[in-house]
Amino acid sequence: MKKIAIIGSTGSIGTQTLDVVRANNDIKVAAIAAGSNVELLVQQAKEFRPDIVGIWSEDKACVLREALSEFDIRIVSGMEGLIEIARMEGVDVLVTAIVGMIGIRPTIEAIETGKDIALANKETLVTAGHIIMPLAREKGVKILPVDSEHSAIFQCIHGETDNKISRLLVTASGGPFRGKDRSFLENVTVEDALKHPNWSMGRKITIDSATLVNKGLEVIEAKWLFDVEPENIEVVVQPQSIIHSMVEFEDGSIKAQLGTPDMKLPIQYALYYPERRYLAGDRLDFKALSGIIIDTPDMETFKGLAFAYESIKIGGSMPTVFNAANEKAVALFLDKKIKFLQIYDIIDACMKNHEVVDNPSLDEILQTEQWVYTFIDAYISKGV
Ligand code: NAD
Ligand code: MG
Repeated sequence: MKKIAIIGSTGSIGTQTLDVVRANNDIKVAAIAAGSNVELLVQQAKEFRPDIVGIWSEDKACVLREALSEFDIRIVSGMEGLIEIARMEGVDVLVTAIVGMIGIRPTIEAIETGKDIALANKETLVTAGHIIMPLAREKGVKILPVDSEHSAIFQCIHGETDNKISRLLVTASGGPFRGKDRSFLENVTVEDALKHPNWSMGRKITIDSATLVNKGLEVIEAKWLFDVEPENIEVVVQPQSIIHSMVEFEDGSIKAQLGTPDMKLPIQYALYYPERRYLAGDRLDFKALSGIIIDTPDMETFKGLAFAYESIKIGGSMPTVFNAANEKAVALFLDKKIKFLQIYDIIDACMKNHEVVDNPSLDEILQTEQWVYTFIDAYISKGV
């Protein structure tokens, strides 16, 4: 029986991963971990009976320990807990459904100990792709994409081992503000930005979709996963989210993967790769394709994508700056401390003031993250 561990089990990807496990009924969940949702963790633990349950906060670990005292389950907490889960023996796949670059260390530890990674946690690859991809090759482990666009590309290149990719066409829905201008964006609220047209996702990625930062992170994620340079990665707006992405080969042939928007498909594909299994759900009505819209992204208004291309072109620690600045800015926006467009101002200021470190080590990546947070605190306290 395949054994998996999930970090971020209570979130959008985490709960859908457990839906896939429940429906197939032939995978053992050896560990789960989450940030703070004790109630859901307890419920998941009672249903799936993992050997280890992790929670970020020490305080909540006591509550969790109490609630699960009748079971033979080890409770762990903090980064140490995540690392213990990542290094667990006998686990085949670590599902990284955690949000943010906090996933870097557990991901590296899981690769070091020979586990395949079902990777949803794109922030980790954006900031540490230059460490993770060579390490995965060295250890002979697979990085299986869960992000729908990357899963689409992964499905398109299956069986094309020796064929060169000439271009990746990454599709984007354009988010809730597609077609709007700067003056409209000036006063949009958190509630407006959280209304994604096609996908129900965690709060951070939903805001990232509205700013197009998500698509920027995905361009960088695609570069690392498929070894394609950013100038050969094009973003195509496809508002219905039916075409999940496309690959162009040397002969000009383009392969696309299509389907209704349902994250359970890429999750299941990653868990059973290369096998396909039955998946319940709506099937695509091909007649819907007659109304399909294809557009180019507005990178002048939605600067998130432009910053991403710039950061990866500069390279070194700059993608970390782009990502960390965005993580903090989105948290401030969700707390209603800044306005929507200030997310761009903050990323811009961080990128302009950063001294790039070439080929950063893990420590240098984490130091860069801290530099970004300190810089933003000072920037905000100046009342900018
Ligand atoms: P989410 O906010 O719904 O869930 C995040 C999970 O991480 C939760 O279980 C939370 O408790 C956990 N977590 C957060 N901080 C933690 C910490 N310090 N320690 C332990 N656990 C912690 O987010 P999501 O939408 O599921 O996204 C997860 C990741 O997957 C992100 O990187 C996102 O970009 C990526 N992704 C999500 C989707 C989607 O459809 N939701 C699609 C593609 C990629
Ligand atoms: Mg995606």
